Amino acid sequence: PEFITVANLANALRVRSEDFSRKLRQLGFDEVGPDYILNAENAGLISMEYGFEPQVEAEEEDEDLYPEPVPDDTSLLPSRPPIVTIMGHVDHGKTTILDYLRKTSVAATEYGGITQHIGAFSVNLESGRTITFLDTPGHSAFLSMRQRGANVTDIVILVVAADDSVMPQTIEAIKHSKAAGVPIIVAINKMDKEDAQPDRVKQDLARYGVEVEDFGGETQAIPVSGKTGLGMEELEEATVLLSEVLDHRAPRDGNVEGWILETTTRKAGRVATVLVRRGTLRVGQILVAGTTWAKVRTLKNEAGVDVAEAGPGTPVEVDGWRDQPVAGDEALQADSEQHADAVTRYRQAKVEQSRAADDVEHINEARRLEQ
Ligand code: GDP
Ligand code: MG
Repeated sequence: PEFITVANLANALRVRSEDFSRKLRQLGFDEVGPDYILNAENAGLISMEYGFEPQVEAEEEDEDLYPEPVPDDTSLLPSRPPIVTIMGHVDHGKTTILDYLRKTSVAATEYGGITQHIGAFSVNLESGRTITFLDTPGHSAFLSMRQRGANVTDIVILVVAADDSVMPQTIEAIKHSKAAGVPIIVAINKMDKEDAQPDRVKQDLARYGVEVEDFGGETQAIPVSGKTGLGMEELEEATVLLSEVLDHRAPRDGNVEGWILETTTRKAGRVATVLVRRGTLRVGQILVAGTTWAKVRTLKNEAGVDVAEAGPGTPVEVDGWRDQPVAGDEALQADSEQHADAVTRYRQAKVEQSRAADDVEHINEARRLEQ
């Protein structure tokens, strides 16, 4: 058993309860009554005080999957598209700008029409380059990826409406970007409006540590309109130029790794948008995410079109999940269904163990308060 009460341990060690209480106090367990629940580690330490040799059960074998280390030198790896996240205050025009960029990209490809909204898509530029755009991912997903030290975003496009200037979510986006060390390109939107005040936006940004170019800083600020299309090409160009400087690369071979960006249920079943980080995702592969896994049944791009594979920096909709995965979780390739099953069982067991430990803590605390 992993837990034992003070009374049961005293009994097992054949110690009188008064002696035992004194011993516990000496060892720093203050105010613990006979109902207090000890974990295995503490019970073992106490038993050793009485000359017992606690038997440690063999550690469960680690069945988990882990990402591969990132190589120090990436210069010989193939380039990958930059991942650009659009952030900014509500109603400042994030979705309008994204839709504009998406429309021009869908029009430029053969299949048009059936765009379904997913918050991530790739734009193929005339230069042959690709940019991946993400709509601001759900707050919790974003935080969860950040907590794992994930650089999901390479560049932030900060949308600020020229008639409204810097607002609370603008400031939050600036904080996020700075904390993650991600460079910002400012899109000063709604320039078609009569009351547009781009200079005021630039001044306000400077107060929050974003110094734009014509105010002596290094951050590019592009005047745009999601309504008329003004400045959209410049915005794309600025993004491409910055990404060329940053020069992102990732291996296209080896085990697939990525992030779950969002999840939904369609007629076909549970689907999740996976942003591939390294490797090449293909139909038939096995992906583990959190405590669930998928044998990839189909891969679809943002236009809902089946694709054969998705490489680093590409978002793709994956179906075939046993349970709904969670946005923000890491997705890692397993080499077989059996392996995926073992990994998810192992992770589930870990979750249950830590839940049990939390429960015990709560019970002890409640009993202490009762005394
Ligand atoms: P989001 O909340 O940041 O995604 O903002 P939306 O893209 O949903 O835009 C909010 C509102 O502003 C919508 O009514 C848009 O039509 C409007 N809007 C967005 N961009 C522009 C623009 O450049 N000019 C004007 N006049 N309106 C815009
Ligand atoms: Mg929006």
